[in-house]
Amino acid sequence: MVQIKQTIRRQTLEDIEVQAQKIAGMMGHIRSAMLAPTEQKIAPSLSAVQLAELCGVDKAKIAYRLKRGDLPSGSIQGNRREWSMAEAQEWARDLRSVHLRPALAAGITITVANFKGGVAKTTSAVTLAQGLSMRGHRVLLLDLDPQGSATTLFGVLPDAEVDAEHTAMLLFAGEADTLEYGIRPTYWPNIDLVCAAPLLYGAEFILPARQSKDPGFEFWRVLDRGLDTIRESYDVIVIDTPPSLSYVTINALMAADGVLMPLPPSALDFASSAQFWDLFSDLCNQLIRSRGKNKSFEFIDVLLSRVEASDAASSVVRQWVLEGYGDKVLPIEIPKTAIAATASAEFGTVYDLPRGSVNSKTFARARDAYDRMCELIEQQIEAVWDRQLVEQAQVAAGA
Ligand code: ADP
Ligand code: MG
Repeated sequence: MVQIKQTIRRQTLEDIEVQAQKIAGMMGHIRSAMLAPTEQKIAPSLSAVQLAELCGVDKAKIAYRLKRGDLPSGSIQGNRREWSMAEAQEWARDLRSVHLRPALAAGITITVANFKGGVAKTTSAVTLAQGLSMRGHRVLLLDLDPQGSATTLFGVLPDAEVDAEHTAMLLFAGEADTLEYGIRPTYWPNIDLVCAAPLLYGAEFILPARQSKDPGFEFWRVLDRGLDTIRESYDVIVIDTPPSLSYVTINALMAADGVLMPLPPSALDFASSAQFWDLFSDLCNQLIRSRGKNKSFEFIDVLLSRVEASDAASSVVRQWVLEGYGDKVLPIEIPKTAIAATASAEFGTVYDLPRGSVNSKTFARARDAYDRMCELIEQQIEAVWDRQLVEQAQVAAGA
């Protein structure tokens, strides 16, 4: 075999700048091509079977309510009826009302976090937001990763289209005391978004600078406070974080009621997850307990993600995960599938893929796993709401 020898190609800073501009330009074109012909992402619509499954009723019940005519009737496409995502959510709100947030309960914040990149944080965060919104919840997705992957999945280009006022940056900089300014609607009904972009790296300098100027300042509580008024307007706030325990990630954890940690069953990922909790507990001791304060989470879930069923090494590590994290491990595994990769190549998730666009069996397997993940997390959210109501009743009775 003839071996071709590598040559070196010297690159100046100007070359690198040109390279960066080239890719940025390509991203704009790629997105336009993908969003053609409408230049906008569209949430998929649902068939009667899917609507019935979503609402937890049989098709006869759908037919009955359709006849009664008090819920959206959808539209006829070819010879079948289908409902837009917004219409399906209206049905879910009606038929699943027992699962929704009681009037006196507060919105629940769930932070998706892990030290590592590539463990499916962003995929899990966006899929969770979509799944919960389909079930009738009103969701805010807060992207805190300066790479803006979640922002990109929503069809917004972090580099070209996001300024500080679209991100949590103004809040971290102390120029705003609520995040309300940054909220925008998305193509997906009932999911609003606060974007991220590389400028959010600035928070890693501004937060410690504010802390050293004012020792009474609590850099870790900026986001928690900034979400106070927002918790009344949303049922669930999902936060996607960068692959590090940065100042921003600490804020996201301190603002959280629940934590979701995606964890592929690989030895290195398992080891790194131990470092994450170790460092986090050290930090909590330094920042919080040393001041006589405390912090608790309603739930911490470990989600086995990107699981290759046939891989012997991963079944060993899966055992470690189960032993190490015990009942924190959600009783569902997200399989590693080409479907997830296909979806992300189109800047979406399995919930974005139109029916019939891909191999139906693997698609169903991946989608069923995410459905179950959303169901399990929804059950925990409902349990927190129930407890809030009981506590309020006790306070009222004691008063
Ligand atoms: P993170 O936010 O932790 O960096 P991402 O959610 O961006 O991780 O996922 C990393 C990569 O893995 C992405 O290319 C994504 O499409 C892919 N991926 C995520 N989940 C799966 C899965 N279940 N099967 C196959 N690929 C996946
Ligand atoms: Mg990510």
